[in-house]
This record gives sequence, C-alpha cells and structure tokens, in this order.
Amino acid sequence: MPKTDVSQLSRRSFLKLGAATASALAVGQFIAPPVARAARQAHLLDSNGSGYISTMCEMCVWRCGVRAKVVEEKVVKLEGNPDHPHSKGKLCARGQSGLMTTYDPDRVLTPLIRVGKRGEGKFRQASWDEALDLVAEQMLSIKSKYGPEAMVFSSTHNLSQPLFENLLYGFGSPNYGTQRSLCFNAMIVANSITYGMEEPARDYSQVKYIILTGRNLTEAISTSETSDLIDSISGGAKVVYIDPRFTKTASKATEWLPIRPGTDLAFHLAMINVIIAEKLYDAAFVDKYTLGFDQVASLTMSTTPEWAATLTGIEAGTIRRIAEEFGAAGKYALAHNGWRTSNFINSFPTERAISILNAVVGNWGTTMFPSSGEGAGVLGSPPQPAYPRISAQRLDGVPWMYPFVPLKIGVFQQLRDSIVAGTPYEPHGWFISRQNPVQSLPDRQKTLEAFQKMDLIVTMDILVNDTDWFSDVVLPEASYLERYDPLVPMGNQVYIRQPVIEPQGEAKSALWVYKELGTRLGLADFFQYKDEVDYINQQLAPTGIPLETLRLHGNATLPTSTGSDIYEWSTPSGKVELFSSLLEKAKFDPVPIWTDPPQPKAGEFYLLTGKVGQHTQFGTQNNQLLHKYQDVPRLWMAPEAAKSLGLSDWDTVQVTSPVGTVQVALQVTDAMRTDCVYLTPGFGHLSMALRTAYGVGASDSVLHVTYTDPISGGQALSQTFVSVKKA
Ligand code: SF4
Repeated sequence: MPKTDVSQLSRRSFLKLGAATASALAVGQFIAPPVARAARQAHLLDSNGSGYISTMCEMCVWRCGVRAKVVEEKVVKLEGNPDHPHSKGKLCARGQSGLMTTYDPDRVLTPLIRVGKRGEGKFRQASWDEALDLVAEQMLSIKSKYGPEAMVFSSTHNLSQPLFENLLYGFGSPNYGTQRSLCFNAMIVANSITYGMEEPARDYSQVKYIILTGRNLTEAISTSETSDLIDSISGGAKVVYIDPRFTKTASKATEWLPIRPGTDLAFHLAMINVIIAEKLYDAAFVDKYTLGFDQVASLTMSTTPEWAATLTGIEAGTIRRIAEEFGAAGKYALAHNGWRTSNFINSFPTERAISILNAVVGNWGTTMFPSSGEGAGVLGSPPQPAYPRISAQRLDGVPWMYPFVPLKIGVFQQLRDSIVAGTPYEPHGWFISRQNPVQSLPDRQKTLEAFQKMDLIVTMDILVNDTDWFSDVVLPEASYLERYDPLVPMGNQVYIRQPVIEPQGEAKSALWVYKELGTRLGLADFFQYKDEVDYINQQLAPTGIPLETLRLHGNATLPTSTGSDIYEWSTPSGKVELFSSLLEKAKFDPVPIWTDPPQPKAGEFYLLTGKVGQHTQFGTQNNQLLHKYQDVPRLWMAPEAAKSLGLSDWDTVQVTSPVGTVQVALQVTDAMRTDCVYLTPGFGHLSMALRTAYGVGASDSVLHVTYTDPISGGQALSQTFVSVKKA
C-alpha cells in the first residue's frame, strides 16, 4: 500500500481515493448494481430505475425519516419522509445536504496507519486485514500487560452503540466515554431524581404558556419539536424565552428576557415562591402525586421576585407577572428543561427547580408525559454470553465520585482528566468511534496531552477529523446513506436505515467493523450475526415483520405491549419527588438552594456557547453545501462593550481564558448582554485533512475551562470567563 501524507494531499489526490466526485453529485449519483438490484427486488424502483428508497438521516442524532429520490438509478435528492414523526415530510438544511457529506472529497475510503509523529497527519493506506490485525494485536498486548481497563472506549450516541458496548464490555473494560456530560447531564439527572425518568416527553398540542430557559429550539437538533413549538405559537400560545443572547428563538417568542448568566435558578425559585404564596398550584395533583411540597414551600419563602430581581437583572414585577401567568395557565403551562441551562455550575439545581415548577402546576398528562426511552422493546437480538465481571474503577468517576450519573452517560471530561493525571490508574489505549473530543471537550490542550500518553489510538470515522489526525489507525466507516444500522423502536413503530448507495472505496459499516475486530479479539460470541442483513433479521424475528416489508415502506408497526399507568414514577417513593431523599442521603441539598456562582472580574466576559441551525456540533463544518450557508463565525459582542474596548465590527480580536487563547473576527451586535460574548462552536479545526473547514473561525474548546457539576457530572460550558483585546 502506498504512503499517504494526508496534509500534503491535493484535492485531486483525495478525489482519486474515492469513487465519487463533486461533479457526480451535481448530476446525481448512479446507485451501484447490488443496491439497485436489491431496490428493484424490494419493488422500490420501477422498470426505469426510478422511485424512492426510505432510510433515516444521520446528519444529527434526531434520526428523521428520509426518502431518497432515485431517477433512472441516480439518487438526485433527499426528501423528508411524510410518514416519519420526526421529519413529517421535511428535512432541515443539514439533512438536505447529506449527499454532500457522503460525497465529501475529503472522505477517508481506506484504512490508514500513522507513519509520522502523532499529530503530523502522515499516514499510509492499509488493507482492512492489516489494520484490524494491528489493532487487535495491540489491544491484546495492552490487556495482557496492564489489564482490560487500560483500554478506554468512547463513542457518540448512535444506533450501533449496543455492538460498541459489546466490544468494550466483552473486552472487559469499564471505561466508556460518551458526549452526554458535555450536553445535558444536569437535565437527565435532575429528571431522574424528580420523575424517575431521564426526560419526560413534552406535548405541545394543548400548551398555552411556555417558558424556554436557554432552549434555543428554532436552531436546535430536535426539528419536530421546533415545528410543534411554531404550531403552538400560531395557535396563540405565549412563549417566554430566557437567554442572555437574542437567538432566532427569541425572535419568535412573545417575550425575551436577557437574564444575567448563571441566575436561571434564582428566576425559577422566585416563580415557585409566587405560585405557592398566591396558591396558584394544583393542590389535588400535589397532594396525591408529589412528595416534599412542604419542604419546597418552606425553602422558597424567601426567594421572592424582589430577591431574584437583584440577581437576574429582571424586574421583580416582570417575574411576578410571569409566575402568575404561568400559574394561571396551570396544566396547560410548560417549563422546558432545556439544554443550555446545563452550562453553569448551578445547572443541576436549576434543572430541579424547573422540574418542580412543572410538577406543582399539575401539567403531567397534559403537556408532559412519561417518555418510553430507548430500548429494544419487542425486537429480538442475536444471542450472546454475559459480560465478564469487571472490578476496576471507571476512570470517569462513575459511580464512585458521581453516584447519580448513569453508567451509559458517564462524565467524559473526568475520563480525560484521569488519563492526564494517571489516576486511579494509567490507561494505554483509546478506541474512539465517530467522536471528536479535540473539539468537544473543554480545554483542548489537556485533551492533546491525554493523547500523547496513549500507546495506541484507534479511530473510526468517515473523515479524518481533528481527533483522527492524532490517531494511529483510522478505520473508514460507511456513511449513513451507504449502510444498514441496528433497528431501534420509536413508540409502536420501527424505522430502517438502509443503503441508498453502495459504500464508496473500502468503507464498511460499524456492524461489520465491530464483528471483525471482536472476532480477532476472541469475542466472536458477542457478534453472532453473519452480516448486517442477518443482524436485522434476527431483530425482526419475534415480530414476524419481513425485512422486505420494512425496506419497502421504511417503517412497520410493532406488536404493542400493554401501556403502563402514566401516574407511576420510578422514584423511591413512586411519586414525583420535589424533596429527594436520595440527594439527602448522599449529603446533597434535597431541594434546590441558591448559592452565588462565580462571576467574571471587571473587564472579563462570560463566554457563551450555543448551536446554529446549519451545523451539528463539530461534524458538519466540512460539508461544502453547509459551508456556503454559514456566515463566517465571529465573536459576538454588544456595542457598548466593543466601544469601551475601542473595538469595531470585523476587527480581529484576541480572546483569552485561563486555559487558552484564540484569534477571531468580531461581530458587534445588539443581540447580546454587555457582560457576555458568544462564539459559535464547532470551528477552528486542527485537521488539515478537513480542507473545507480548516482555517475557518476559532474553537471554543481551546478556551473552555473544565468545571464539573459534582452531582450530575455535567460540564458547565458557559462558566468560562474571557478577556478580549484587539489582536
Ligand atoms: S434534524 Fe436535520 S440533520 Fe437531524 S436528522 Fe433531521 S433532517 Fe437530519
């Protein structure tokens, strides 16, 4: 196999590695014979080779239904599946640009083995056999020298996760990193403690009053919820949007409250104070279904709107009026838990306060419902043995430091910090699937330090992203339009992700990679399927649904199981726990209590983060279509703040935090509080193999300081303070 220096490859060389080109995209891509043959057999295409193939989007984690439009055996367009509850016939900009990700000229289409220094971007191409043999040999060597716990595994949330878990738990490692602690740990742990479920479902069909605390729904991933919100606004619902930044959601809201960062908790405690003091709560629901109302009433006696006004910067009269309006809406009110509330060091009690607010107005069964969660349901699975017993502590501190964090969620930033510290033990290898911790974890320098401590880094991805750039072996995964994935039910429906085009180059599905690697590691019993189709057939076996039916329609109805009582909660008391005995036992505040969070010094700003609708975290910036739709990402700053620093629009500024410095162009805008700046995440890529995204914008991961909430394990991404000056 030839040597490949990815950093030196010209665009022409990269194109030669794959079967597809950008010009092929412009005219539509022929679907390759095996996929076309299967599509014809499944009656998806007519005699002219035209029709639709149903599958599922993976440009983000929301999994909208897609119908790939095929004309004379060419895929010409991706459309939303009208029968899918997430897409409802529509795809967002990212979903519509999916073909461009599949045909990205920077796709990695053969396994790569590092030949230069780690981080130099020098690789040679390798065969699958050579790459997998090398990975298996080195993983087994690490296991025999240091024990299975010396291998760390991390992955994004995706449909092939059960097989990834077989790989890591079958291998015998407890060390499992996900992205969740960088996103919504505070929300899910607060809900688990209050309602006994990670995230109750929200229903907008009857909602009359909505409070969105930093939940920028119109630029969020969950687009079906966005459309439910817009429908409810059209139907007359009032929306109060609380965020230091004027986002696109603020533009749709009835009222925008530019709250002081980190004081959402004070606002919600004052809401509870008014609702209880003015007896606006649902006494019948509270009496019958909740625990700890008296303790909450007593602890919120002093959290009046006047008290909260001094902290939040929102007038007491406004807080009181909103509380009264929310209380009057009663069961038709909804306080959204949000994600951005997970960005401050007090996000956990804030999330608890929001959960309590919902409970006391009795909206359960009207705007909030139990969620079914994600599980196999009535689907089958291939047989497999029990996992070996694992006695080593997890490096991310779950549960020994963070007893309330679910094992499947973890505390990723703590895992990275333990690697750097070498305690409680030193890991030696890291298998990273579809993940980019260089961009996602706070304090990028520390992540690079962790990489340098590894004897082995293996990554699996469709591009050489910033983390793959530091990898020893890069395994090329098939894109979502080129592969099958395991099935996961949605309610009583199951939807399929199936190939729309043949995998390019030598890219392979995760189902194939994990089985091949698992077999080399002596774990074949955990991967008892012949191929992807056999895996799905084993899943469908108990349902009696033929795969061809699922392929043809894209979805099928599952046999229903009997519904459970919606007024049962998996908490110790079986009730909604406003007061938590679990927290009390663990010596944490059993009800949310205000303590002053850290504040920026004079001359410093809160560094805020938040999504834009054109991109999914760190994974879509190299998509050439989305790149065109994205304005140059700049640092937002209020005019008064810019003036005080002698700065103007488009000035290049230097932004400095306690852990790093970046340079970026300035955007002077009225859409910010004067004490905050905002940087769009996902830019400032390190990998020169991302030739569209490389050199664009700056990364907030360079600036973020690691602050971990001791209860939920969530990273407080907006707790970093920065100084700004002209570069
Ligand atoms: S929200 Fe957009 S990117 Fe995400 S799955 Fe749906 S269409 Fe795809």
